[in-house]
Amino acid sequence: MVDRSESDSRTLLRRLRDTLATGGGAQDRLDRITALIADSMRTHVCSIYLFRDPETLELCATEGLNREAVHQTRMRLGEGLVGRVARSGQPVNTGNAPSEPGFRYMPETGEEIYSSFLGVPIQRVGERLGVLVVQSREAREFSDDELYGLEVVAMVLAEMTELGAFTGEQNGIGATHRFPVMFRGATGQEGAAEGHVWLHEPRVVVTNPVGDDPEAEKARLEQAVSSLQAQIDDMLIGAAQMDKEQRQVLEAYKMLAHSRGWVRRMGEDIALGLSAEAAVEKEQSTARARLELSTDPYLRERLHDLDDLSNRLLRLLTGQGSDTGAELPLNPVLVARNIGPAELLDYGRKLKGVVLEEGSVGSHAAIVARALAIPLVIHATRITMEALNGDQILVDGDQGFVHLRPEETVAAAFRDKIAMQAVAQKRYADLRELPATDLSGQTISLMMNAGLMADLPSLQGSGADGVGLFRTELQFLIRTRVPRRSELAALYKRVMDAAGEKRVQFRTLDIGSDKVLPYMKPQDEPNPAMGWRAIRVGLDKPGVLRMQLQALLRGAEGRPLSVMFPFIATPDEFHAAKASLLHERDREASLGRPVPSELKIGAMLETPSLGFAPDSFFEACDFISIGGNDLKQFFFAADRENERVRRRYDTLDTAFLTFLERIIARCEVNHTALSFCGEDAGRPIEALTFAALGIRSLSMRPASIGPVKHLIRRANLDDLRHLILEARKQGAQSVRPVVTHYLAGL
Ligand code: PEP
Ligand code: MG
Repeated sequence: MVDRSESDSRTLLRRLRDTLATGGGAQDRLDRITALIADSMRTHVCSIYLFRDPETLELCATEGLNREAVHQTRMRLGEGLVGRVARSGQPVNTGNAPSEPGFRYMPETGEEIYSSFLGVPIQRVGERLGVLVVQSREAREFSDDELYGLEVVAMVLAEMTELGAFTGEQNGIGATHRFPVMFRGATGQEGAAEGHVWLHEPRVVVTNPVGDDPEAEKARLEQAVSSLQAQIDDMLIGAAQMDKEQRQVLEAYKMLAHSRGWVRRMGEDIALGLSAEAAVEKEQSTARARLELSTDPYLRERLHDLDDLSNRLLRLLTGQGSDTGAELPLNPVLVARNIGPAELLDYGRKLKGVVLEEGSVGSHAAIVARALAIPLVIHATRITMEALNGDQILVDGDQGFVHLRPEETVAAAFRDKIAMQAVAQKRYADLRELPATDLSGQTISLMMNAGLMADLPSLQGSGADGVGLFRTELQFLIRTRVPRRSELAALYKRVMDAAGEKRVQFRTLDIGSDKVLPYMKPQDEPNPAMGWRAIRVGLDKPGVLRMQLQALLRGAEGRPLSVMFPFIATPDEFHAAKASLLHERDREASLGRPVPSELKIGAMLETPSLGFAPDSFFEACDFISIGGNDLKQFFFAADRENERVRRRYDTLDTAFLTFLERIIARCEVNHTALSFCGEDAGRPIEALTFAALGIRSLSMRPASIGPVKHLIRRANLDDLRHLILEARKQGAQSVRPVVTHYLAGL
C-alpha cells in the first residue's frame, strides 16, 4: 500500500513541476509555489527566501505573511533563524521560534503570531541558494516526516532555481551564477589574466528533478549503483600493484558505494517524488552540509569521496560525461578543484590562467603552471560551485585574487593592470640582448629555471644566459611509469639542442618530500621534507640514478655537460654521487661512445650543514648552487609549504645573509663557481641583495629576468653592499628596508 504522506508528497512535487511548464513570470511562479506548499503541509505560512547577493537573503514570496514585506524584508547571512539555516546548511525546527537563540523579529512581516518554525536550506551540491520556511500558529515541533518532506521540496526548488525558474527582472530576483563574486586564494604563479571559465569537470545538469514513476526511478538508481559498484571493483582489481594509501582510498569508495544507508535514503527520496538524479543530489547536498562543518581532516577527506562518487553516479544516470563536446572558450581560464600535472600539460599554453580550490605552492600542478608561465591562484574555496563555463573571470596571480563575473569598473581597473604589465614587459624585452651589468661595471649572469620542453622557448625570449636549474623530476612526475633511458636521452639531447651555446645545469632526480611519483611506493614518513628524498634515494637505490646519468651522458653527444646533485647534506654524499657519474662516463668511453668534452659536476647547497663542510668538499665541486627554498626552510625551521609560517621569516634577515656570505667566501677561497637558484633569486629586492653580497649567478623563472636585469643595470652594487653592511652594523634584523629604499630611489 502506498503511504499517504508519500502520495501527498508526490502530488505536491508534480504540481510544483507543473508551475515550471505553465506560463507566467518568476514572481507568479513563486507565489503559486508558496501557496501549494502551505496547503499541502497544512501550515499557516510558507515563505521562500533567496540570496539577493552572496551575503543577503531576501523574502521573495510568501503565503501567510504580509505580502508588502515581499522584496522588502532582508537579512544578512547568519542573521535571525533564516540566516542561521542559510549559513549552516542545516534545518531549524522549533515549536517556539521567539525563544530560539538569534531569533530576529521583523515587524513588517506580521509573523509574531506564528510560534512554530521549520526552515530548511535550498541548496544544491554545496551551493546555498536560499531558505524555505513553513510556520504555524500552534506551538509544536514539526515531525521528522514533515522535515524530511520539506527537504525534498527544497531540493526540487533548488533544481528549479538552477533552471532559472525564478529569474525575473521586474522584482530584482537575480539568477544564480550571475552575481560578481571575488575569491581570496593564494599565489601559485604570478601574473594577471582575463578570460572565460573552463570547468575541468563540468557540472551535471539535472533537467527533471521530479520522478513520475517511483518504481521506474528506483530501478534506474539501482542499475546505476550496480554499475558504480562494478566500476570501483574494477578499479580495485587494477589496484593490485598500488600502494597502501591508494588502495585505502578505493576501499573507502567501495564502502560508501555499498553503503545500504546511502542507497536506502535515496530510495526514500524517490518514494517522496524525486527523480533518481535529484535524490543523488539531495543526499550529496545534505551530507556535504554536515561534513563541511567538521574540522576533522579524515571526515573532510570523505567529503571528496562522497562528491566523487555522487558525480560518477550522476554521470551514469544522465549520460553526461566529463567530455560534453563543448569547445574551449576564447581565452580559457581553467577552474578545477585540483588537477594533475599531466592533465595541465595537455591543455598547455592554450590556457590564460588556472584557478584551483586546492593545490599548494609546491604542487606538481603549480610547478607546471610556473613552467608554462600561466597565472595560477590556489585555495579559491568553492569556486567550482559558483563558476559556470564561459563566465568572465579575472585572475590576479600576484595577489591571489579571482574576480568571477566582475563589475565593469573592476574589469576596467584590471585591464589597466594588465596593460601596465605589458608595457613593462616591452621595456624588459628591449633589454633582452643587453648584459646585466651594474653602474660599477659588475656583470651578473642571469639564468632561468626550467624542467619541461615547454620552458625552452623562454630561453631565447627572456634573454637568459642559460638554464641554471633544470629540474629533471618533472619528466618523471608527468608520466605514469618510469621513463626509459632512451626517452630521457632523447629529451636531454633536445634540451641541449634548444639551448645551443647556452649552458644547462641538469639537476638529477629530486623526488620525495612533496614530489611523489605516481608509480613509486610512497614512504610513510613523519617529516617527508626531511626524509628519504633527492640524493638520499639516488644513493640508496642507485639503479634509477645510474640510468639517468647514462641518459644525460648520451644526450650530451660529446658536448659539454653540467650535472648537479640535489640536497647534498654531507661531503661523502657528493663524493659518492660524483664517483658514480665519473664511473658512467668512463663506461661510456670504454663502450666507444662519445663523452662530454667538458664535464662540470656540482652540488646543491640546501641544508645548513654543507655551509660548514671542509674545504676539500668545496674544492671537489666544480660549482655550487644554493637551493634557497630548501635552505631557508631548514635555516629558519619553517616549512616552505606551510603558508602560515612560510612568510614569517625574511630572506633578507641578517642572520640568513651572514650565512650566505660565509658560503660566498668559502667558494671564493676554493675557486668554486656559485649560483643561487631558489625562488628568491627571481624577486628583485632579494636578487639585488644577493648580487651586492657577491653572488655572481642567479637562476630564476623566466618572467623575472627582465625586471631583475632592469634594476641591476640602474643600480651600483658597491653602493648597495655598503648600505647593507652599514645596516647590519647598526643592528638591523633585516636589510629589507634599506635595500627597498635604495631601489625606490633609482
Ligand atoms: C630549492 O630548494 O631552492 C630548489 C631550487 O629546489 P626545489 O625548489 O626544486 O626543491
Ligand atoms: Mg630544493
